Amino acid sequence: MKKGKLFIISGPSGTGKGSICKKLLEMDPNLRLSVSVTTRAPREGEVHGREYFFITAEEYQELLEGDGLLEHASVYGRTMYGTPREQVFRWMDEGLDVILEIDVQGAFQVRENYPECILIFILPPSMEELEARIRHRGSETEESLKARLGEAQHEIDLSDRYDHRVVNGDLEQAVTDVHEIINRERL
Ligand code: 5GP
Repeated sequence: MKKGKLFIISGPSGTGKGSICKKLLEMDPNLRLSVSVTTRAPREGEVHGREYFFITAEEYQELLEGDGLLEHASVYGRTMYGTPREQVFRWMDEGLDVILEIDVQGAFQVRENYPECILIFILPPSMEELEARIRHRGSETEESLKARLGEAQHEIDLSDRYDHRVVNGDLEQAVTDVHEIINRERL
């Protein structure tokens, strides 16, 4: 059986990469989304095991020391995120293509260890639009909004090292664009 491919989708918080991934999973039965671990608290509506595995700093440390994470990163200072290694490779061995929805630090770590992975970056149409989307979500304090916007600019600056970049102005179009990239890479 042909081994599955590993796709990494990154983009600043608020670019809609979560919505894009959700739609891709609905339309393509050969795709799987890796569920990360995080030490941050769940937002309203988030479910343990669906958006993330919400774990304590101690549990995170244990996973890290046991080499259970394919990559990990600290985002916005204190919060830790990581990709559980085992599930990703199990799916690929089954011939399924896997998406990691992770930040740029994590993406470059995965590329070091697994150079065959394909990096896709989702761009907002503009910084103004990005700010408006994050404000609309309403889950941020003014301080964390500023941190997210600063982090967004930093990630955008690094995105020229990605294999593909897609602007999310219109969700349906962005989904089509990313799916085309995935299908081309599968050939
Ligand atoms: P949020 O807290 O808004 O869900 O995610 C914040 C950032 O963390 C996003 O850029 C997201 O892509 C990134 N992220 C989520 N899971 C992981 C992970 O497992 N590893 C890394 N490196 N970044 C992650």
